[in-house]
Amino acid sequence: MPEIILQNHSYQYQITKKFVSRLTLRFVKNKILVTAPFLVPTSYILSFIKDHQSWILSHQTKFDFKKITILDKDYQLVIKKSARDSLVIFEDEQKIYLNSVSTSPASYLKIIDQKLRVHALKLINFYLKDLAQTYHFKYQRVSIRNQSTRFGSCSSVGNLSFNWQIVLLPFPLFRHVLLHELTHTIHHNHSAKFWVQLSLADPDYRTHNQLLKKHAPQYFISS
Ligand SMILES: [Zn+2]
Repeated sequence: MPEIILQNHSYQYQITKKFVSRLTLRFVKNKILVTAPFLVPTSYILSFIKDHQSWILSHQTKFDFKKITILDKDYQLVIKKSARDSLVIFEDEQKIYLNSVSTSPASYLKIIDQKLRVHALKLINFYLKDLAQTYHFKYQRVSIRNQSTRFGSCSSVGNLSFNWQIVLLPFPLFRHVLLHELTHTIHHNHSAKFWVQLSLADPDYRTHNQLLKKHAPQYFISS
């Protein structure tokens, strides 16, 4: 995808030509999407984007690309331009090195989404195993998704699936999500029995559930 520089950062843009009478601009997941009539030249479209850059920049992600907090541990994010995309976590230094071919925020987010989910799965597996042992739950397979609307799910046969970004939550909320899905391995609905079972492992489940619904988006990197 081509890129355009706006205030020292490059942004990916996509032009779609259609039978329309005027130019329209959308900013989705840090990408600029332009719909243009067939005969409008690219140079005109690019100056149109520049004319609207303050609107575009006001709609970009709140994520500041300086720090990532994983299970209450702060990591400094060090971004470098590189020949290939990679992400390396240094636990002791508390640094995450993000090497990116492109300098666009959209590509940084894509690399974080792709590479950090592998790390997230390890963390989720580790804590799931521990909680299942302590509170006597049995589960089958675990998978990772980037469902922005759900934190996790449990299938009828006990396969668990989680949004990888739950590792960005404060630890008590992360633990609450794991326990919620583990509890579904016994009670498949949200019956009174479900909540009683959950309360045995998470006595503050009510508060955790409310905090999660209200504040989760502010911890998540992209949605
Ligand atoms: Zn549920």
